[in-house]
Amino acid sequence: MNYSNTFQEIYNELQNVEDTGHVADYIPELATVNPNQFGVHLTTVGGEHSAFGDSEKRFSIQSIAKVFAFVMAYSRVKSNIWERMDLEPAGTPFNSLVQLEYDKGIPRNPFINAGAIVVCDILVDELASPKENVLSFIRGLSNSHTIDYNPIVAHSEKKSGYRNYALVNLMKSFGNIRNNIDKVMDLYFSICSIEMSCRELADSFLFLANNGVVPHSGEQILSPSRTKRANALMQTCGFYDEAGQFTFKVGLPGKSGVGGGIVAVHPLKYSIAVWSPRLNKKGNSYKGMLFLEEFTTKTELSIF
Ligand code: GLU
Repeated sequence: MNYSNTFQEIYNELQNVEDTGHVADYIPELATVNPNQFGVHLTTVGGEHSAFGDSEKRFSIQSIAKVFAFVMAYSRVKSNIWERMDLEPAGTPFNSLVQLEYDKGIPRNPFINAGAIVVCDILVDELASPKENVLSFIRGLSNSHTIDYNPIVAHSEKKSGYRNYALVNLMKSFGNIRNNIDKVMDLYFSICSIEMSCRELADSFLFLANNGVVPHSGEQILSPSRTKRANALMQTCGFYDEAGQFTFKVGLPGKSGVGGGIVAVHPLKYSIAVWSPRLNKKGNSYKGMLFLEEFTTKTELSIF
């Protein structure tokens, strides 16, 4: 099944909707992106591709990287990862400090900033060369070997990352960060700066639609049970304090990033990535959310 015509149709409809979003500018380098770009790519578990617009153009994946980092940690750590983070929706913005103080330095889930920082701390312990290892993991998933960090974006974020440093220091004070803060944050900012296209994102998330197996290589990344759990976490925690809206309107597990990207997965069917840089008030792509809502409505392909 090719969905390119459906993509075109939805794109045309959305041209009539005013985009009230704004590009993320709290990371200065992200504010330089052309906000009018739009791309979408869907890959089925059977290997069919549908694309539209700027689907081959790379952009900053930002928090979408939290899924890759979490999967790497989840597949490696022998101890109980849930002693260091919870698995509940946050109900607060992605960089909120409030909840973390109440919860004594235990982040609500691995997909908010605090949770991803703990995951990076775990990866610093687990991996011989964390930055190289994460990159080659993502390159292998997507079968795209030129994917890379953007050091300018990572540096821009490091320079303006006061809240993220506040989060890591707070967690360190509660004993939930084991390594040197600079080492952990270097990994965190670096993974957020990775640039990928919609096609690469859709391809790299496909194992989550395929019981944990990467279709093009046959590699088992997570067991079917853990794959189900990773998808459950994306469903409940993948959109900051808008996960309920996304579930209600789109009905797929997914993850967004402040670069304007969203990836969603339909287990046993496909993964889809959409990119539109202007964000709504909650930090999710304004038109990306609308696009996916229309897509699952028109195709009746939500999981509910
Ligand atoms: N690098 C961003 C930050 O730490 C990620 C935010 C996001 O995409 O949600 O603020």
